[in-house]
Parts: sequence; C-alpha cells; structure tokens
Amino acid sequence: MKKVLVIEDNEDNFNLICYPLKRHGYHILHATNGLDGIELAKKERPDFILMDIHLPLMDGIETTKILKSQEETKHIPVFAITSFAMVGDRERILEAGCEGYFEKPIDPITIMDKIHEILDGRKDEDTNS
Ligand code: MN
Repeated sequence: MKKVLVIEDNEDNFNLICYPLKRHGYHILHATNGLDGIELAKKERPDFILMDIHLPLMDGIETTKILKSQEETKHIPVFAITSFAMVGDRERILEAGCEGYFEKPIDPITIMDKIHEILDGRKDEDTNS
C-alpha cells in the first residue's frame, strides 16, 4: 500500500490534509514533531513526506536537512507546507532539500495532482540518467 508520512503538529491542518490523501488511497502515518517524524520515516519508508515548517523543538527545515543527510531517508521526497510568507523562505525550504512547497491553506482538490506531477517528473529523471 502507498504510504505517506505527515509531520504536522496542528490537528486541524492534519485533518485537512488527510482528506485528499485518503481519497487517493494512501495509508497515513502521523508525527507531531521532527524527531518522531525522522524515526517513523526510517522505520516505515513512506513514499513521500508532507512537512509542516512550523514545528515544536525543531522546525521542518532542520528536520528535512537531517532526513536528506541520512542514507536510509535521503531518497524520500519531502513536500513542505508552510504559512510563512517571508521573503527567502522558499529558498531556505528548497535549499534544505524539499522537492516542493505548498502554502497554507492547502487546496485539497489540487494538491495531490501537483504532488504526483513532481513525483512522476522525478521518476522520468531516474529513467533518463
Ligand atoms: Mn505547525
């Protein structure tokens, strides 16, 4: 079964993102902070990760950098979800290694198409190289 890991500390935001994921047949794993998220990613090897940027203890950017620095998790695509509209945030998120970036509130109707578009693009790259 397709698996997705959602690292999100806000319950309302988590419930909102669950709706399109379930509709697309994903099994949903949930962590509410970066450390638990890294542990779950190693154990469960999800197909991709949805990463809230504003998290307690360690933010989503730091969490992504750790995931992307470790052999077991660096291949897993990470999509950031953030409400920050600060200049430079997008660059920081992409520099950390995120494959994509969505601003809150997410659009539950279109988000999965956008994610699949990016994931399919990655597969094509792998085949061509
Ligand atoms: Mn948050």
